[in-house]
Amino acid sequence: MSETPRKIRLVGLVGLGIMGAPMARNLLKAGFDVTVHNRTRDREKPLAEAGAKRAGSPAEVAAGSDVSITIVSDTPDVEAVVLGAGGVLEGATAGHVTVDMSTISPAATRRIAEQAAARGVETLDAPVSGGDVGARDGTLSIMVGGKEDVFYRVLPVFEAMGKTITYIGDHGAGQTTKLCNQVAVTGTLLATCEALVLAERCGLNAERVRAAISGGAAGSWQMTNLGPRMLARDFAPGFLIRLLLKDLRLVKEAADELNLTLPGCAQVQQLYQAAQSAGDGEAGTQALFKVIEKLSP
Ligand code: NAP
Repeated sequence: MSETPRKIRLVGLVGLGIMGAPMARNLLKAGFDVTVHNRTRDREKPLAEAGAKRAGSPAEVAAGSDVSITIVSDTPDVEAVVLGAGGVLEGATAGHVTVDMSTISPAATRRIAEQAAARGVETLDAPVSGGDVGARDGTLSIMVGGKEDVFYRVLPVFEAMGKTITYIGDHGAGQTTKLCNQVAVTGTLLATCEALVLAERCGLNAERVRAAISGGAAGSWQMTNLGPRMLARDFAPGFLIRLLLKDLRLVKEAADELNLTLPGCAQVQQLYQAAQSAGDGEAGTQALFKVIEKLSP
């Protein structure tokens, strides 16, 4: 007779960056027993003060948790923290669920799922959208790939961090959905920059223009959240240009495999490349505004 999996109480999180730290706080607020680990150990301290336990490695996080979440930068980083020495799989026992919420390659996600399954460990890919604001407010959009019954088991954990939570399909489907998300996001980002540069160059009160058009058909997450930061010349990162270029690389890999032409993405990739070359790789994605401004000195 198969055992009913027990209710999830112990949740681990590896990667306390711009996204991971507020997500861990929301897990604590929802009443989970949370264990955290970050490569730069100092970043664990504010979470420990808020009630989280600290673990010395991802393996230790997994050993003390029913579900462990990873939210780190890129594909090799997820491979390192899940499959590497001291990684999640080293500490996980059969029945454990490891959930990757980073944005990485769908193909690598499927490979990680196979290696975990060989050890009796379940995996979900659950990348997110909604930025630093969504992570802080617990309103992320979460797109999930993996087994559907495992998704429903982990759903209360997702509900602590997000509002729009969607099961998409098998392993990798969440990551592929996130690439579609990024195609739409980058197009809107460029359109937001161009609209606001035009408003300023026409001599209008650009913030008033932004507020007016936000409520109509031009409204978007970027217009609402990043538009004001563009106009205030606040380029502090909510989402790093370096990481958006990583996402655009993943989009291009997926499109190339299908011989698919995505001209808007190619153009935005070039403009972000220019931003990175100008030294803005660690700035927020709203710094694309500077590139558009400089095209018309
Ligand atoms: P971030 O602020 O740069 O944080 C990255 C985190 O990953 C840090 O905790 C870093 O540890 C850790 N890390 C990186 N490489 C590692 C490795 N090899 N081993 C162990 N830890 C490693 O990035 P973020 O904005 O939180 O983004 C995290 C993920 O979420 C990315 O995949 C990103 O594309 C995705 N995402 C971000 C946003 C957003 O708006 N920011 C939105 C949706 C999705 P250290 O502190 O030691 O450097």
